[in-house]
Amino acid sequence: MDQSLSDNPYDVIVVGAGHAGCEAALASARMGCRTLLLTMNLDNIALMPCNPSIGGPAKGHLVREIDALGGEMGRATDQTFLQIRMLNTGKGPAVQAPRAQADKKLYGLAMKHTLERQPGLHLKQALVEEIGRYTPAAGAGITLWVKTDLGWTYHCRCLILTTGTSLGGRVIVGDHTREGGRSGEFAACGLSDSLRRIGFDLGRLKTGTPPRIDARTIDFTRTMVQPGSPTPLHFGHYLFAVPTPPFPSPNPVYPVESATAWRPQLPCYLVNTNEETHRIIRSNLHRAPLFTGIIKGIGPRYCPSIEDKINRFPHKESHPLFLEPEGWETAEVYVQGANTSLPEDVQLAMLRTIPALEHVEMTRVGYAIEYDFVFPYQITASLETRQLPGLFLAGQINGTTGYEEAAGQGLMAGINAALKIRGKPPLVLRRDQAYLGVMIDDLVTRDLTEPYRLFTSRAEYRLLLRQDNADLRLTSLSYSVGLVDRGRHQAVLAKQEAIAAEMSRLQKRFINPADVEGRSPAIELAHGVSLASFLSRPGAGYALLKEMGFGDGKLGQEIIDQVEIQAKYDGYLQRQYADVERLRRLEERSIPQCLDYAVLRGLRREAAQKLERFRPDTLARASRIEGVTPADVAILMVHLERARRSQAPR
Ligand SMILES: Cc1cc2nc3c(=O)[nH]c(=O)nc-3n(C[C@H](O)[C@H](O)[C@H](O)COP(=O)(O)OP(=O)(O)OC[C@H]3O[C@@H](n4cnc5c(N)ncnc54)[C@H](O)[C@@H]3O)c2cc1C
Repeated sequence: MDQSLSDNPYDVIVVGAGHAGCEAALASARMGCRTLLLTMNLDNIALMPCNPSIGGPAKGHLVREIDALGGEMGRATDQTFLQIRMLNTGKGPAVQAPRAQADKKLYGLAMKHTLERQPGLHLKQALVEEIGRYTPAAGAGITLWVKTDLGWTYHCRCLILTTGTSLGGRVIVGDHTREGGRSGEFAACGLSDSLRRIGFDLGRLKTGTPPRIDARTIDFTRTMVQPGSPTPLHFGHYLFAVPTPPFPSPNPVYPVESATAWRPQLPCYLVNTNEETHRIIRSNLHRAPLFTGIIKGIGPRYCPSIEDKINRFPHKESHPLFLEPEGWETAEVYVQGANTSLPEDVQLAMLRTIPALEHVEMTRVGYAIEYDFVFPYQITASLETRQLPGLFLAGQINGTTGYEEAAGQGLMAGINAALKIRGKPPLVLRRDQAYLGVMIDDLVTRDLTEPYRLFTSRAEYRLLLRQDNADLRLTSLSYSVGLVDRGRHQAVLAKQEAIAAEMSRLQKRFINPADVEGRSPAIELAHGVSLASFLSRPGAGYALLKEMGFGDGKLGQEIIDQVEIQAKYDGYLQRQYADVERLRRLEERSIPQCLDYAVLRGLRREAAQKLERFRPDTLARASRIEGVTPADVAILMVHLERARRSQAPR
C-alpha cells in the first residue's frame, strides 16, 4: 500500500548526507527550493570514513572553488581543522594547494549545525530502497518518488542521489565479508536493484581504508613531526575576519602541539615501513582478499593498498606512513598509506614491525569496500540522468572517489536541480573555468575504468585554474544563479577592479636602470622597462617595488598576490587564453540530443557508437570522447552545418 507522508511534493529530495548530499541540499535550499534530505544515519552527517584530510593538489583547488560558488566544505573545514599547510610552495602557483587535517567529529557536527539552521531544508533519517516516477495528473509534469525501507513514500520534482559507497556495499577483511556501507552502516542494496530496473547500467568499484591506532600506544620519540603552517591559511573566501572556532584543550596523548602563533594546531607524524614489515605482508599474500579473488571491484591505482604496493614495488625498501590524528578530543590515529584488507592479525603484526609502533594497539581494523556505481556516460554535464529526467547523481555514485570530488558534484547537482525547477538552463562549468568543469567533463566523455580522482595534471588550463583565484573565476557565476549574495559579489567585483587598475598602472609606469642600481637582489636593467615587466623578472617582487617607492602601500596581500602572478606568468597566461579562444567555437556549438549517429554518412562505426553512448551536448565535448577522432568531429560539424542551413528560413 503506497503510504505517502506528505501530500505536497518537495521541490528537491536529496538521498544521502555525505559530502555530496550536504552540498546539494544546502545549494537547493539556499536557492529557495523546499528541500528534504533523507539519510540512513543522522549521526553520520558528512562523515569521513577514510582519511581525515581535506584538500591537497587539485582537491584543495576544488574546495576553494566550492567556497567561491557558495558551498560549505571550505567553511566547515576552516572552523574545525587540526592543521593546515600549503603544499607545493616550492613549485609554481598552478600546483600550490592548501591541505587541512580535519577533526572528523567536529566537521560532521559543524555541517549538521549548518544544515539544521538552513531555512527550507528538512532532515529525516530513513533508508531509501526504491525510486521511480509518475505523472500525478494530466499536464502536471513529471514527479519523482522515493520509498523507504519502512514503506513510506516521498514525492519531489527533482531527486538527487548521493549514496556514496553504500550502493550494494560489501565490507571485506581477510576472508570475512559482510553487507555494509561503511563504518558499520547498512548497505543500500534495494536501491541498486531499483536503479537496474529503471534501466541504469551499474558497475562495481572498490576502495579501502587503513587501520586506526591508539595514540597512547605510539612512541612519538621515534617519529618525525610534521607541523602545520606557521602563517594563517584557510579555504574560505571571507569578506570580514576568518571565524576562529573555540578550541578544545590540547589532547595530552600527543606529545607536542605545534602552537603556531595564529592558531593551535596538531602535527602529523611520519614513520616508515621496513624489510620486516614487507616480509610479514609478503608471507601473507595468500590470505589477502585482493589476491585470493574475494575482491572483484576495481580499486584506485593511485591509492593502492599496502599489500598492493609491496607486491607492485618489490624493490622499494620502505614506504612512508603518516600518522594523522583524527580529532582534538580522540586518541584515534589514522595510518595514512596503510590501506589494507589483510586479516586483522596480519595488520597488527605488520604495524608492530615499525619501531614507533612496536607496542601499538589498533582501535579499528583496515577494510576494503566494494560498491555499485552508475556509469557516468548516463548523465549529462548538468549531472542529470538521461533515462530519468529530474533525477541527478552526485559523488561516489558517479564513479569518483574523494570527499572534495563528491562535494563539488553535490553543489553542482543542487544548483542545477534548483535551476531546472525554475525552468532555467543548467550551470555547466567549462574546463577553462574550473576544476569542477574538468572533473564533470571527464566523467561525461571518458569510459570510467577505475575510481576517478582529480589531479592537477588532468587540467590543461591549470595556470588559469589556480587555488588563489577561484573567487575571481566563479563567484559572479554563482551570484547570477542566486546562490551567493550581493555582498560577496560586490567584494569580488571590487577585487577584480583593484587588480585591473594596478596591472594597468604597472604597465604604464616605467623605471630606468638607475632606479634599480645597487638594489638587492641585483636585477640588471639594460634599458627602461614597465613596472609590470620588471615584476616578471626572477627575484623581483612587489615587496621590492614598494621598497623602491613604486608600490601601492594601500593594496591588500590578495591583490598583490594576483598582480605578481599576472606579471610573472603573463606569457603563459596569454597562451592559455589563446588556447581557450581557439576552442570556444567548438565549446559553443551544441549538438541536438536526439541526433541519430548511426545514419551519419562518413562517420566511423566506432565513433558513432561512442557518440551514441555519451551523447555529447557540444562539438568540443564530442572531440574529447575517447575513440572519436578530429576527422569524426569534422564530419559531425558538416552534418550539423547542413542541418542548420536546411532549417534556416529561406
Ligand atoms: C572504506 C572507505 C575508504 C575510502 N578511501 C578513500 C580514499 O582513500 N581516498 C578518497 O579520496 N576517498 C576514499 N573514500 C571515499 C570517500 O569516502 C568518498 O569519496 C566520499 O565520502 C564520497 O562522498 P559521497 O557524498 O559521494 O558519499 P558518502 O560520503 O559515502 O555519503 C553517502 C551518504 O549517503 C547515505 N546513504 C547511502 N545510501 C542511502 C540510502 N539508500 N538511503 C539513505 N541514505 C543513504 C550514507 O549513509 C551516507 O551518509 C573511502 C570511502 C570508504 C568507505
